[in-house]
Amino acid sequence: MSNTAVIHTFKARHLWQENGWQGDVSFDVDGRGRITKRSGASPQSLDSWVLPGMPNLHSHAFQRAMAGLAERRGPGDDSFWTWRETMYSFAARIDPDTLQAIAAQLYVEMLKAGYTQVCEFHYLHHQPDGSPYAQPEAMSLALIEAAREAGIALTLLPVLYMSGGFDGRPLSARQRRFGHDVDRYLHLLANLRKLENDQLRVGVALHSLRAIPESAWRSLIDHVSLKTGPIHIHIAEQIGEVQDCLATRGARPVEWLFDHAPVDKRWCLVHATHLTEAETAQLARSGAVAGLCPTTEANLGDGLFPLAHYLDANGVLGIGSDSHISISPVEELRWLEYGQRLSTRHRNVSARHASDSVGETLWRAALKGGAQAADLPIGVITDGQRADFMVLDSDSPLLAARHERSAMDSFLFAGNMPLVRHVMVGGQWVVRDHHHRDEVSIVARYRAAMQRLTA
Ligand code: ZN
Repeated sequence: MSNTAVIHTFKARHLWQENGWQGDVSFDVDGRGRITKRSGASPQSLDSWVLPGMPNLHSHAFQRAMAGLAERRGPGDDSFWTWRETMYSFAARIDPDTLQAIAAQLYVEMLKAGYTQVCEFHYLHHQPDGSPYAQPEAMSLALIEAAREAGIALTLLPVLYMSGGFDGRPLSARQRRFGHDVDRYLHLLANLRKLENDQLRVGVALHSLRAIPESAWRSLIDHVSLKTGPIHIHIAEQIGEVQDCLATRGARPVEWLFDHAPVDKRWCLVHATHLTEAETAQLARSGAVAGLCPTTEANLGDGLFPLAHYLDANGVLGIGSDSHISISPVEELRWLEYGQRLSTRHRNVSARHASDSVGETLWRAALKGGAQAADLPIGVITDGQRADFMVLDSDSPLLAARHERSAMDSFLFAGNMPLVRHVMVGGQWVVRDHHHRDEVSIVARYRAAMQRLTA
């Protein structure tokens, strides 16, 4: 049988497409895991709400293992920077096997929540003392293997991290395992790009402006601009970072970035929390993605992204779970809206033009921006696209008597019972009836790794 032969034929009671729900849609999946033309075979009924899988555009997999370990008040004023110290001491104990165990468990949780692609912003490259592993890509390969085991598609973004601050200071002892010079970084990137396949994309990540000295910036940007694939960067997450950038470079981070790089659709500016109106408009005009991680940004006390202005300017956005304090696209989008409601004392802030539904507006936006940041075609279920989708649990009381005007809002806002019942990635069922195909063995290995890590 050729791999273009049909292996599944489905009929979805309700299928989410770019312009909204469509009723009774049939589609086929071929042996390459792609949506294909109708074969005429009698379909398996998906008698529920069927949605394209959500890309998670920002992940540091290892941080999942410390979720909940930094919620006790310290002696001073707790902030992002005190959290970072906890994170660094945790990161120092992680080796490739531990990383694979944590990442596989994380990716299982992501799939069960409806994420089908993850952008891994990966900076834990070397041994704890900063020397390379015998196989320099060992930590990247651990993430690739974890994604393969779990069955989630991966956009691997190896991170260039060169200096410990805007003043160009060297990396601290705890940061040394993150570091590369430009040549070694480009070598790593080239080696990883050789591994690309249908479920593995490789792109560039620049840790942040403070991590790349100005002396290295120009040639680096010239180089990556000539290639293809996404370029991600952490930017303007913290007020301190904005102040340091102003003091050393005479401009705010987003302002400086636009003056020193051809920012366009290939770029994903992660967080971009602290923006002026001019920066907000410029980011929207560029077509770059604002990579928003609302639960992490809330957990770390970062601040609020200027969502209403950005949506008014037709800015592109996507969501990520970043530190993994929460693994749920529903919760990310809900908090994206709730943050705005709390600060403006208005309701339904995100709804715009195409729909008066907040849920539909945000889900549509995050699918589009997430796909763009992950280097995928726009997340729709149509001929030629990879078959990545989720089927909601129509037996859930939360979806009782919901129709096309209310289903998405109920999915996003009506609580925390898991509504994602089945998940397919690349034509393979990875989650059936709320259970991942290998969740028992993956969680057992994760528990053992956590025992070693916290011993
Ligand atoms: Zn991050």
